[in-house]
Amino acid sequence: MESQYNAAAIEQKWQQDWVKQGLDKTPENSDKPKFYALSMFPYPSGNLHMGHVRNYVITDVIARLKRLQGYRVLHPMGWDAFGLPAENAAIDRNIPPADWTYKNIAQMKQQLQTLGLSIDWDREVATCSPDYYKWTQWLFLQFYQAGLAYQKEAAVNWDPIDQTVLANEQVDSEGYSWRSGAKVERKLLRQWFFKITDYAEQLLTDLDKLSGWPDRVKLMQENWIGKSVGAYLEFPVKDSDEKIAVFTTRPDTVYGVTYVVLAPEHPLTPKVTTEGQKAAVEGFIEEVSNESEIERTAEDKPKRGILTGGTAINPFNGEEIPILIADYVLYEYGTGAVMGVPAHDTRDFKFATEKELPIKVVIVPENSEDSNPTLTEAYTEPGIMVNSGEFDGMQSTEGKTAIINYAEKQGYGKARIQYRLRDWLISRQRYWGCPIPVVHCPSCGTVAVPDADLPVKLPENVEFTGRGASPLAKLEDWINVPCPSCGEPAKRETDTMDTFIDSSWYYLRYTDAINDQEAFKLEKANDWMNVDQYVGGIEHAILHLLYSRFFTKVLRDRGLVNVDEPFKRLLTQGMVQAMAYKNPKTGKYIPVDKVNPESPTDPDTGDDLEVFYEKMSKSKYNGVDPQKVLGKYGADTARMFILFKAPPEKDLEWDDADVEGQFRFLNRVWRLVNGYAEKQGEVISKKELSKEEKDLRRAIHTAIKEISEDLEGDYQFNTAVSELMKLSNALNDAKCINSRVYQEGIETLLILLAPFAPHIAEELWHNLGHETSIHLQTWPEVDPDALVVDEITLVIQIMGKTRGTIQVPANSSKEELEKLARESDIGKRNLDGKEVKKVIVVPGKLVNFVVPK
Ligand SMILES: [Zn+2]
Repeated sequence: MESQYNAAAIEQKWQQDWVKQGLDKTPENSDKPKFYALSMFPYPSGNLHMGHVRNYVITDVIARLKRLQGYRVLHPMGWDAFGLPAENAAIDRNIPPADWTYKNIAQMKQQLQTLGLSIDWDREVATCSPDYYKWTQWLFLQFYQAGLAYQKEAAVNWDPIDQTVLANEQVDSEGYSWRSGAKVERKLLRQWFFKITDYAEQLLTDLDKLSGWPDRVKLMQENWIGKSVGAYLEFPVKDSDEKIAVFTTRPDTVYGVTYVVLAPEHPLTPKVTTEGQKAAVEGFIEEVSNESEIERTAEDKPKRGILTGGTAINPFNGEEIPILIADYVLYEYGTGAVMGVPAHDTRDFKFATEKELPIKVVIVPENSEDSNPTLTEAYTEPGIMVNSGEFDGMQSTEGKTAIINYAEKQGYGKARIQYRLRDWLISRQRYWGCPIPVVHCPSCGTVAVPDADLPVKLPENVEFTGRGASPLAKLEDWINVPCPSCGEPAKRETDTMDTFIDSSWYYLRYTDAINDQEAFKLEKANDWMNVDQYVGGIEHAILHLLYSRFFTKVLRDRGLVNVDEPFKRLLTQGMVQAMAYKNPKTGKYIPVDKVNPESPTDPDTGDDLEVFYEKMSKSKYNGVDPQKVLGKYGADTARMFILFKAPPEKDLEWDDADVEGQFRFLNRVWRLVNGYAEKQGEVISKKELSKEEKDLRRAIHTAIKEISEDLEGDYQFNTAVSELMKLSNALNDAKCINSRVYQEGIETLLILLAPFAPHIAEELWHNLGHETSIHLQTWPEVDPDALVVDEITLVIQIMGKTRGTIQVPANSSKEELEKLARESDIGKRNLDGKEVKKVIVVPGKLVNFVVPK
């Protein structure tokens, strides 16, 4: 056996051996309980970064642990492979998106394999591969047939540089594109939507079923769905049959409405605008049309609005009130109109004050004398209704229901629940995505491509100029096809799908990844679902998880799977941070290798630098390349460091000294086990264990107990690694090397270490003479008898000063402890005929004798 720990050689050897033995394959049709361990799959950028490494190592430890604990484990990996960067590469470097993507996949897969991940690569999927997106298209048609996919014209965020539609989250708070940096414009386009709003209530209430999810993720989902309970009310337009519909959560303030506001795009806007205001209103609409939604609704931005000249009537009191349009009201949200109650809404108060609109108080605090106070800010608390006709004197909380009932009776309102969640805009005017499988026929309208004709393949010979519309829209021979229904000339849909669709069902495909007849077999999906442990970044806390939950529910309703929720437990791992150096005067980051850490100054200007931990990134020059760490220390050390340095959900601060520390620990284990393997003679089995053996056995079973508990539920890998170190130290200190207890200790240490550092554990296991893989062993069980302490260390004190310690039976009474202390050598020597005035006994700890001075 090797005398030096040579991580590179060991890791290469076992990675090949595991593949040969098929150890990572997923067992089917077994009596064992199932466990589905899943990492969020990566976008194939080409380079594995430390954030990936952390994500996949965490999932791998769980997968390996569960195998040892007797589960059959599904632990797959794949590639979220469609998306914009491949097209940008095609434009910048003239590489076809498919070539660029598959090259990156190959590179990243090779890097992943060096980490010793126990992944079943037979189930690898790439969302850009026709044998995957064929089923994405088939699932799209399932949604279409269920009435859950539809087209409508919608105002979208338009990136004038990338020439594409952006999702709201791709636009920053200043209204710039996150990718191109262009000022985002608004544009009307006919788009495809998924009707996720049909599932809003289920997506909300089923959050209660997810007890294994972090609370903050559930709260983020809840806020995103944004349920509000309130009233739908109609305000007639004066001298017209038109009515302005609004939604409000404060119907109790309806007597305080002093104006109504329409979204500039609202169809009523031109109808209510008077001749005198026409020019001003049109100018305003033109200005607003260039603003993104995020810009329009930003909290810190002043709200802009303008009078239309039109008048509405408050149906409750007949008051005439002005109609305005304002940028902060969006046509896509709610009814596209709001009522203005400046006395009781902070935003309205500010807006009305600026626009010099009237402010009318209709709720006052209880016991208030003045029913018409002058406000300096909006009064938004509940109180007593005033200036509200027959509702005067009523508690405002009760007034909400009373007003709704009244409006319903009068025929101009009703109770309504509204959600912030809107339908999912899935169209992208891009090439490198899954084509939407429909054809537009002049006679038949929109026609689904028949299942037999799927997949609608992405054409391969495409020219990328980076300008104009999607490359697909320019391919005449691809676009023009006969209508599947009537055979007349028709045109293919040129939009592709949002990549979030690809990732909304990949976890189902893994359960039956090479099926070319179906997206997945019902029995296989039902067997493996739900995912028992999902691991990924908090940045996916909202959209990816919400869309996947939506998909699962729709597929359940289509009879394609029988679970309500895709992911039973969710672990959102923290970021990987490293030291960054920034010049506060120039705002520039300085590469780590150009800075002297003792006195960090800017090599160009000499300025003192700010030093802090920040997420690893290229732009901050603080990334640590996983390949370098693996090359120097090996995968096992990298894994141990990542797991030891911080609890998985917390941010991890990179520290070379701690990496080195883990390397030294593995070296100690290496010497310990190999030293034992060389020296061990015949293992002596005795009936009665010596005290040393009992102590060692207690250390072994304490480690089993603590590590098993640390790895249950919350996965506290960091404390588990500490326990491994303790056990290793106990074995190092123990002398009973020929005892069967020592052998038990060495083997237990290796099995407990195996999920964390799989290669070195395997090598040392074989060095002990075992033939089968350590990863096929059984996780050790705690022997409760071994944990029982039968002797304790008792401290003997005279006048509070420690004179020494003795070993005593753990179950000794107070009287026995005093006797044992008195009669011990330490007791005899120190008391030596002195009169004892008082004895203080702390059971399990000490005996203190009080003697005269
Ligand atoms: Zn037709």
